[in-house]
Amino acid sequence: MNVEQAYKDANALLEGHFLLASGNHSNRYLQSAKVLENPKKASLLTDALASMIKDAGIEVDTVCAPALGGVLAGYELARSLNVRSIFVEKKEGGMELRRGFEVAQGEKIIICEDIITTGGSALKAAQAIEALGGEVVAFASLANRGFCKRIGGNDTAKAECALPDNVPLFALDDFTFEMFTPDACPMCKEGSTAIKPGSKG
Ligand code: ZN
Repeated sequence: MNVEQAYKDANALLEGHFLLASGNHSNRYLQSAKVLENPKKASLLTDALASMIKDAGIEVDTVCAPALGGVLAGYELARSLNVRSIFVEKKEGGMELRRGFEVAQGEKIIICEDIITTGGSALKAAQAIEALGGEVVAFASLANRGFCKRIGGNDTAKAECALPDNVPLFALDDFTFEMFTPDACPMCKEGSTAIKPGSKG
């Protein structure tokens, strides 16, 4: 499937002048929630992701997502893999399992995000699962922003990638955008102002 086209069709791949969470500017931005807006299209994306995971021979008991961003993708991936779906939530300095969710000793768990940028939230989710005795067998994401190396991708892992290199990352596609520091941004030089497109307005 053409993942980039799926993002464009859902208006999830924005073009303009954006201020990223890192403070850098970019002319493209992934609004990942938009690609999950239509449940039927969302399940096509996670079916494709599940196929990659099955083809690699990864055994999975449960999908765990870091809330809030990963929850929809994680739930749909769990449906595609026909396994259990849980999520962890932010606490001071990390993530934790709440709401009566449990993890068994040795339970094989995939950490699923909608998008992996540097993988910081996914790593905190993995640490929460491992602290409870679960085994993190893979990371999965619809989109990989090109900081971490995905199975089958061309990019190499950058220094910013927080994910461990001994656990595979499955993602549908790499979205590696050009980024600029504000003083080197060509769009700023042309006089436009970067907007903040993210979840926090
Ligand atoms: Zn700029």
